[in-house]
Amino acid sequence: MMNNTNLESITEPLICWFQKNARVLPWRERPLPYYVWISEIMLQQTRVEAVKPYFNRFIQALPRVQDLAECPEDRLLKLWEGLGYYNRVRNMQKAARVLIEEYDGVLPADYEKLLKLPGIGRYTAGAVASIAYGIPVPAVDGNVLRVISRIIENDQDITKQSVKDEIEAMLLAVEPKECPGTFNQSLMELGAVVCLPNGAPLCDRCPVRELCQARIHEKLDVIPKKKEKQKRRIEEKTVLVIRDGFHTVIQKRPSTGLLAGLYELPNLAGHLSRKEVLQYLKEQNFLPVRIQPLKEARHIFSHVEWRMTGYMVLVEEMEQSESGMLVIEPERTEEEYPIPAAFSAYARYLQIKLGQEKYES
Ligand code: SF4
Repeated sequence: MMNNTNLESITEPLICWFQKNARVLPWRERPLPYYVWISEIMLQQTRVEAVKPYFNRFIQALPRVQDLAECPEDRLLKLWEGLGYYNRVRNMQKAARVLIEEYDGVLPADYEKLLKLPGIGRYTAGAVASIAYGIPVPAVDGNVLRVISRIIENDQDITKQSVKDEIEAMLLAVEPKECPGTFNQSLMELGAVVCLPNGAPLCDRCPVRELCQARIHEKLDVIPKKKEKQKRRIEEKTVLVIRDGFHTVIQKRPSTGLLAGLYELPNLAGHLSRKEVLQYLKEQNFLPVRIQPLKEARHIFSHVEWRMTGYMVLVEEMEQSESGMLVIEPERTEEEYPIPAAFSAYARYLQIKLGQEKYES
């Protein structure tokens, strides 16, 4: 059911509320199209607080579209390390190259043209167009879907494209011409800090509580409706922290599939015994002196969960291996080689901090 609440009535209270309550965020200080684009891609799936240091570091390292277009892949992935969804930053680079070729290195002030760029969908195109260029188009992400479906008491599954389309069309009809970016951000902000994604919404603080049909009809526990998430596939792994006193070993992941093209600590499928690990090390021509089990760890991706065990392996002096593994000083990995945060628990044994952890320290 879609309640016919007039969405036009929410624009003014939301804009007023946002103007008084908007969080100060680095990409809001100067909403250049390039900054809006980067921040919106980073914010998909990641908390605002976590994104701030990534954003600052990214625009410092790659201040212009041209710098992004020319950045070597390992450096680019290193800047993204810990944010996950690495194809997003690869697509950003592809888009940056198109921008250099076709638009003089500037994001076009045109919703349809933005949509044609690699990795830019309707939400990101809407955010860049409205926030950076003042074009009255909606930007509908999960936060906005939740807020609007509660306000209009929409009890349909918000993961369905048809429901998203309907909400987008409703918002397009009421986008205020003079400040669409502020209106869109007020909806996103309300969803992030008041109409919360997890836990009860803070309706007492909500500027549209008197208009919100789901609150009035006490349907907050059933709206928004989402279909049940598919169960994650469990994968067991044994991770090896191999050292010779000066060096450690990393390897490059395949160029397709999960975490494609990133680096990793050597690891094997399954939870292996000490004997099985020794056998593997011998096959790789390592000469182990000591082998010691490490704590279990796990990492959750959107569709897969890794359950890991590990071993610390002290070996005799290593030379570059012929099996494609890189023998390097651990500290070099912190600067040069992007390693996904899934390996954080074991990288710590090498005093390597990855992604988020590095910024927190
Ligand atoms: S009143 Fe409550 S449920 Fe409705 S939009 Fe506001 S915070 Fe969300």
